[in-house]
Amino acid sequence: MFPTFNTLDSFPDEDACINHFRALRWPDLSQWACPHCGVVGTPYVLKNNTHKCREKTCLKKSTVRNGTIFEDSKLPLRKWFMAVYLMTSHKKGISSCQLAKDLGVTQKTGWFMLHRIRNAAMTKEFNAPLAGVVQIDEAYVGPNPRWQHANKKNPLLVGAAAAKAKKIVFGMIDGKGELRVHHVKDTRKGTLKPIIEAQVAPGSEVHTDEANTYIWMRDQYKHRFVAHTLGEYVREGVTTNRIEGAFSHFKRSIVGTYHKASDGHLDRYLQAFAWRWNRRNMGEGERVNALLKDTLGKRLTYRALTGKESH
Ligand SMILES: [Zn+2]
Repeated sequence: MFPTFNTLDSFPDEDACINHFRALRWPDLSQWACPHCGVVGTPYVLKNNTHKCREKTCLKKSTVRNGTIFEDSKLPLRKWFMAVYLMTSHKKGISSCQLAKDLGVTQKTGWFMLHRIRNAAMTKEFNAPLAGVVQIDEAYVGPNPRWQHANKKNPLLVGAAAAKAKKIVFGMIDGKGELRVHHVKDTRKGTLKPIIEAQVAPGSEVHTDEANTYIWMRDQYKHRFVAHTLGEYVREGVTTNRIEGAFSHFKRSIVGTYHKASDGHLDRYLQAFAWRWNRRNMGEGERVNALLKDTLGKRLTYRALTGKESH
């Protein structure tokens, strides 16, 4: 149906990108909605591949970019497509420096593109709550990286002191294998509760270990736990083995790459990892399309990102 985006040459020119994006946004062009007057119906497609509303009181022009994160960007769509391709094809994500180099844009532009695309993908992702049986756990990562399962009996690994020594990754996964991972500053209830409430549907069955930080959950969820400190890993179908499995995948994916312990790096790796994990059954071209679709209605201006005018 759509061209396969599996090399940087898949879209030879700007028109190919525009056509592809139009087909993604409106598989049936009669579903097109005018961004100016809101009328729904096939627009005129002009010679320069832009749209013109057929509504006589409107007749205004627009492009395939209207209503997406590309709307106010002067960069060719082709550069954006390449950025999306590079971001989705690198397992560990891509740095803004590398992106700038690959695209032949300034580092500032590379940084801006990366953030805008990532923001689009992530915001969309968090809109759908986890449901069914959800496993929740945390893990610690050091700069080396040496991972350990969270040992809540060890007072040294609780609170702010622990956060300084090691970075804490908090993870949730549902029965369909949908994953959310966050870098958190500590494992206190006040930190974890808002994240869980925002992303796990009320009434879900939630499996954790026996940590005190999860006790509050019995009021909002069907909370069941395994007692890891007693050497218990599965009890009556209650387990956190899936989320632990995701953690160890993450660990393997960053071996040799995760040199710096900076929060920004860890977050970047985590989000790139989760995004790919949640699309692990997709082909590469499908993943590009998935990310392109996520750009709809998610504008993030340069000003909002940086506090500065224009770009
Ligand atoms: Zn119109």
